[in-house]
Amino acid sequence: MPLDIKPIPVLSDNYAWLLTTPKGERAIVDPGEAGPILDEIGDGRLDMILLTHHHADHTAGTEALRERYGAQVYGPRQNQERLPRLDHAVEDGDVVSLGNTQIQVLSTPGHAAGHVSYVVAEVPALFCGDVLFSLGCGRLLEGTAQELFDSLHRYDSLPDSMLVCAGHEYTRSNLAFALHVDPENVALKARAGGVERLLEAGRPTLPVTLGVERRTNPFLLAPDVATFARLRREKDTF
Ligand code: ZN
Ligand code: FE
Repeated sequence: MPLDIKPIPVLSDNYAWLLTTPKGERAIVDPGEAGPILDEIGDGRLDMILLTHHHADHTAGTEALRERYGAQVYGPRQNQERLPRLDHAVEDGDVVSLGNTQIQVLSTPGHAAGHVSYVVAEVPALFCGDVLFSLGCGRLLEGTAQELFDSLHRYDSLPDSMLVCAGHEYTRSNLAFALHVDPENVALKARAGGVERLLEAGRPTLPVTLGVERRTNPFLLAPDVATFARLRREKDTF
């Protein structure tokens, strides 16, 4: 039995991601609020809290979960003064362990200073916070287009089978924008119906594979940083 991965909807459109090993060890990524996670775990255990960046919609549940379960908190060393207190400050290239599961840290700035992503190769799964969304990418809140473009391309060496576990359910508006800027994309058009059905049913559109995103996400398809920057500006007012 491999690692189990489950999106937990929190706040209005965030996902916290719950990881459970076959032995029952658990980690939560980006707990933007505690309530839905407490409901899910109940009297179970929580070993680890992984933070991608300091924005409150990814961190505000941290202290309540630490207090209830004694979980160890991991987050980026860079910018850590704006994060909840970290038990383990991490940086690019670090590997942390949940039981026998190894979790690799990638530095991915551009949306937020110090933003990191977590890769679990054994699934494989990518916890990318607000860097990559299904059919979209994060806003340039504390970085440049070049930084976010480079961060998205840190994922280039990851396999097509990698599950993208992003921090928000933004797929509805991202799909509309993608169809607007790339109307002739056959793979995108083929995907639209399935995405619509999930949204109609109120079900998460995530995770999705990186392979599918590579063929349909306009921000991953952008050939150069100038095109990427123009798309990002257009999306901001779409
Ligand atoms: Zn954010
Ligand atoms: Fe966010």
